[in-house]
Amino acid sequence: MKINITELKPKKAVLKIEDTTPYFVNSIRRVMLSELPKLAVENVVIYDNTTALFDEIISHRLGLIPIPTDLSLLTFKDQCTCKGKGCPNCTVRYTLSKEGEGVVYSGDLQPEEKSWAIKEDKIPIVELYNDQRLILEIEAVLGRGKDHAKWQPVQAPGYTFVPTIEIDKKRINEVEDFIKDLPEGLVELKKDQLQIKDVAKLPVLESYIDKAKADFITIKRDPSKIIFSFETDGSLSAKDALRETAKILAEKYAEFGKLLKNLK
Ligand SMILES: [Zn+2]
Repeated sequence: MKINITELKPKKAVLKIEDTTPYFVNSIRRVMLSELPKLAVENVVIYDNTTALFDEIISHRLGLIPIPTDLSLLTFKDQCTCKGKGCPNCTVRYTLSKEGEGVVYSGDLQPEEKSWAIKEDKIPIVELYNDQRLILEIEAVLGRGKDHAKWQPVQAPGYTFVPTIEIDKKRINEVEDFIKDLPEGLVELKKDQLQIKDVAKLPVLESYIDKAKADFITIKRDPSKIIFSFETDGSLSAKDALRETAKILAEKYAEFGKLLKNLK
């Protein structure tokens, strides 16, 4: 198997995986959705809330804030040496206290330690008018997407097969005419080879082919060559999300291997 990283941004990655199967790539996707841990707000203690929103709505909004997660420093609360009481190894605490006119933002959450400061600090939580205030404390713990969507650091992981576009070379004039009507930059014709610049835009090309009934162009997909892409909510970087996913997947395969060995 060959893996090429074609795009790597803090919150987005695109990989080209060759000599693989859709089953394997889908298992990466499944681990990202349901197994990859991140921090999310689990407990909210509201001391004072005279805002227009109910405590429950504010708590729900707090649950959606991406909390920067350093997986190397944290353990799951139920596996921690504190036996679920909550300690710096398993629980990250924030306080919030704001009064008077203005908007309460995610950045107003003050962490116990500076390294846990919220990076996406402009997410609005509630608007305060004169004499209104919000005072609360929250606890964030590690969890997994399979338990609750708030613990899902990766959004929309998906894959597509690498397409090969074949053209009927005897009808090259028709191909050239067809290309003229396409959005600019969608495809390129190089020495009788039609290439799409951005594979994500393949459905656009397909809809044009359908509409024009262009039977001189055929698109084939190779399931052993896959483009896999995902984005994170910012709680984990794309690189960390990928690294941790590989670790979890390797552990699962090792466990499965052990079970197979025990079978007779
Ligand atoms: Zn603990």
